[in-house]
Amino acid sequence: GHNERVNYQELLLHAMKAARPVLDRGRPADYIPALACADPQRFGMALATVDGEVHGVGDWREPFSVQSISKLFALALALSHGGATLWQRVSREPSGNPFNSLIQLESEQGIPRNPFINAGALVVTDALLSLTGDARGAVVDFLRQESGNPAIDTDRAVAESEAGHGHRNAALAHFMASFGNLHNPVDDVLDHYFAHCSISADCRDLALAGGFLARHGLRADGSRLLSRGDAKRINAVLLTCGTYDAAGDFAYRVGLPGKSGVGGGVLAIVPGRGAVCAWSPGLDAAGNSVGALAALEDFTERSDWSVF
Ligand code: GLN
Repeated sequence: GHNERVNYQELLLHAMKAARPVLDRGRPADYIPALACADPQRFGMALATVDGEVHGVGDWREPFSVQSISKLFALALALSHGGATLWQRVSREPSGNPFNSLIQLESEQGIPRNPFINAGALVVTDALLSLTGDARGAVVDFLRQESGNPAIDTDRAVAESEAGHGHRNAALAHFMASFGNLHNPVDDVLDHYFAHCSISADCRDLALAGGFLARHGLRADGSRLLSRGDAKRINAVLLTCGTYDAAGDFAYRVGLPGKSGVGGGVLAIVPGRGAVCAWSPGLDAAGNSVGALAALEDFTERSDWSVF
């Protein structure tokens, strides 16, 4: 139950121990050169409860590139600014294809499968840009406020590295623009997309920033970001689509709404309880962190932090 004393630190230490042996089975993302040199032996994990209790182990205070984890914040912010019509521009079905795939966009008339693959996140970024005038700034401000860490920022070297090797994302964006599904200039959308993916934050920051989804839409200061219904819906789409074409395996092993990024982070939400972020740079073939998955699997096996 909620009131009994749980030894979170012990649970996290156990999860880290479970992840250690598999860390060398993953490979850091190499299509973004600035991420390729990350050390796969790094591992961190943090947990933040709904009332702000925080625990962490390993490299939990080491900033890393959040990459696609930013897609969940971009979506939440776009919806909070009244972007409900967004759901006419992006679907919510698992894609079954890699996160950067172009394949479904033509038959589906430039409407991406879900907001958590690259195509979908580009549409969300476009909407957030229209609604706020600064999609990158909106995500950075939100992460700073929820975590209380003013040092969170875009890593310009990573953003430039992404932009310099971003042919696929540029192709996705132009293709969608040809269907009229981007409303801002393609280059602006790409700039903001790369810039929010290239934000550096640590496991503690992200566990705290994910708290609004555990608090059914309430921010850290108690104000409402999203309706309860929108928080429910984002969690549902995270469960079905947050880890790309491995979402089924993630649901099976971890059993939580979660979002991964090619920087090696995974942020998982336990509605009503809190958020957990694990990080290790080595990725599997789907682009999900091998170590973070192993740790989260161990954690949900041994704790009662589960939706099932
Ligand atoms: N910025 C990365 C990209 O666009 C994000 C991908 C990811 O984390 N899966 O390729």
